[in-house]
Amino acid sequence: MDMKCDTIAAIATPLGEGGIGIIRISGDDSLEILNRVFRPASGQPLKSRMLTYGHIVDPESGAVTDEVLAVYMKGPKTYTAEDVAEINCHGGLVPLKRTLSLVLRGGARLAEPGEFTKRAFLNGRLDLSQAEAVIDVISAKTDRFFDAAIDQLEGSLSKRTRAIGNKIMDILVEMTVNIDYPDEDIEELTYEKLTSDLKSVIADIRKLLSGAGSGKLLREGIAIGIVGMPNVGKSSLLNCLLRESRAIVTEIPGTTRDTIEEYMSIKGIPVKLTDTAGIRTTDDRVEKIGIQRSKKILGEADIVVFVADASRALMDEDVEIMKGLSQGRSLILLNKTDLEMVTKPADIEAFAPGIKILETSLISDDQAEALEDAIYNMVGEKTEQSAGGSVITNVRHENALREALSFAEDALKGAEEMQPLELIEIDVSGCRDALGAITGETTSADVIDEVFSRFCLGK
Ligand code: GDP
Repeated sequence: MDMKCDTIAAIATPLGEGGIGIIRISGDDSLEILNRVFRPASGQPLKSRMLTYGHIVDPESGAVTDEVLAVYMKGPKTYTAEDVAEINCHGGLVPLKRTLSLVLRGGARLAEPGEFTKRAFLNGRLDLSQAEAVIDVISAKTDRFFDAAIDQLEGSLSKRTRAIGNKIMDILVEMTVNIDYPDEDIEELTYEKLTSDLKSVIADIRKLLSGAGSGKLLREGIAIGIVGMPNVGKSSLLNCLLRESRAIVTEIPGTTRDTIEEYMSIKGIPVKLTDTAGIRTTDDRVEKIGIQRSKKILGEADIVVFVADASRALMDEDVEIMKGLSQGRSLILLNKTDLEMVTKPADIEAFAPGIKILETSLISDDQAEALEDAIYNMVGEKTEQSAGGSVITNVRHENALREALSFAEDALKGAEEMQPLELIEIDVSGCRDALGAITGETTSADVIDEVFSRFCLGK
């Protein structure tokens, strides 16, 4: 790896109008380049880590182009582990572009997207999973996802992955010694010990992977499908949860023909709400398409909310849908309880045993909180971190863990069948490499480039 790095610069804050905008410079010539364009008001030379007031001056014309605060930070205790300089300009496109062009003329090269963080990785200040957490921190849309990303940035996933990696290394060393020096006076690796060591590794990987489910929920959100016959109050439910009237509520049955998708956050968990047309047999072609979509969404939704109308008797179609509801991921709303109740909770229980029934009157808009609580109770525990566990927020990490698990399981099978150590070693090495891909130790250059290409400019 070429460790002789040129000095890079970029605008580190979003482009637009703001109080301040920051130009970041990183590399060996940071101080020199800063000194070429920055004139401290005090006339004193810059001191490392001291924010200094002064002006940006065009070295060619001598014109003052901005009034700024600048700081120089001597490496390696910086974001990139290199010498870094930052200029706090006025936050606007023109001042930032002007100062940046002076900095580039002063000898810096425009940074590529993610190049600052890539340098932090290449210089060993962050491992790959931590660098990836930087993107998650920046792009987090909910508090829970943000917390998980910060946790990962602080190195929780790295630590746990390395701990498993070390165990694997110990096994590998023992195997290698036994393969290469079978006659030497060393402790013989028994299949019994190998089996128990591998079982322990498998348990560790499984525990780490158990955080992947909640990571997926935090990343992609929970898909909630609202189903039920026309006119029972599905659109009213959507409106109630969204506390606004985006879905059209109407008294003509079957108006919510297509599906409506809305995004919201329930106590920090991203939720995608889908309101479906009522599932019922009909000759109306348009509605048929709607029904097909409903069935599809029912198959895809993480949680299904079925709405029934308490003011009328259950219809065959209601019953048909209820039979399709599964325990643990369904909630039934018996709606319109403000009207005379023809259908009672007991009538529903008969068809949907064990599924929670909530009596609602969605005509009033004070039910949102109770509904949110009920939904959160269903999904909340799924997203709780397992005791002492890390949430796996990144698909690449999850895939690497699954690969490591599969190698470890194959190795265990080999050990149980007392296959030759040379054969088992292949799987153990595979497991080590898969784990190393998480922290970047065994990641290919292509994957590393791919990871950093997803960053924004200036990060
Ligand atoms: P959807 O077809 O299932 O989406 O049902 P809508 O949400 O469009 O509601 C159909 C009709 O029932 C509308 O006129 C709503 O105002 C009314 N409605 C919804 N919830 C209630 C409720 O709890 N009580 C009463 N009385 N009417 C309701």
